[in-house]
Amino acid sequence: MDDVKNKELLIVYFLHQTHIWDKKEAHMKITYFGHACFGIEVSGIHLLFDPFISGNPLASQIEKNTIPADYILLSHGHGDHIGDAVDIALRTGAKIISSYEITDWMKRQGVSKHHPMNIGGKWAFDFGTVKMVAAVHSSSLPDGSYGGCAAGFLIETAEGSFYYSGDTALTQDMKLISELWRPDFAFLCLGDNFTMGVEDARIAAEWVGCQRIIGMHFDTFGYIVINHSEATKAFEQQGKSLKLPAIGEIFEM
Ligand SMILES: [Zn+2]
Repeated sequence: MDDVKNKELLIVYFLHQTHIWDKKEAHMKITYFGHACFGIEVSGIHLLFDPFISGNPLASQIEKNTIPADYILLSHGHGDHIGDAVDIALRTGAKIISSYEITDWMKRQGVSKHHPMNIGGKWAFDFGTVKMVAAVHSSSLPDGSYGGCAAGFLIETAEGSFYYSGDTALTQDMKLISELWRPDFAFLCLGDNFTMGVEDARIAAEWVGCQRIIGMHFDTFGYIVINHSEATKAFEQQGKSLKLPAIGEIFEM
């Protein structure tokens, strides 16, 4: 038993040595396009997460045809995440990073570049590494096809690291994120009803070990409208900062 424990500690130590100590201060330009959609620029490479824009009544001022993308990361297959992914991928030639089932579906929509992954897997891209992590949620595509497992992403780059929760319930798996990877900041869903609400997202922030949280998946529909000042205060009370960006807002992390 002690041997197993020692081996675990050694693995954690090794991971910290290789992944954490050479990490630089995070400096990424982030644009919020509404709901769970963020554009993130890393060393001049544009990552786009869950682009749901034309179907989002709150994002009518966003011109989806000007959004840059080299990679489109899709957490799961629901319409409020897949949204405009096909259109943007066809226009930009971006590579889709998602579950095997979703990349296969994208292929059938005529999208030529994709990288299939599954939970627990990690891959090195030119902007950094992507690890697909567990999310507790469902995943089907707009035509009813099976979308594989819903996922979150852990991204490590030379400019910093972050966790993107996707849609998920609070889950003990989040503790692994602080134990093993310690990202600089986290995007957490917190609109409640379909995902974590503010109360659970506060616990998630603790479990993933991040001080700086960006909220997502709030206000888009009646089911997920939140009180901004109460949410911000709730995070402040535990010594963390919660950013609830305005749609179209550009900020740095
Ligand atoms: Zn959703």
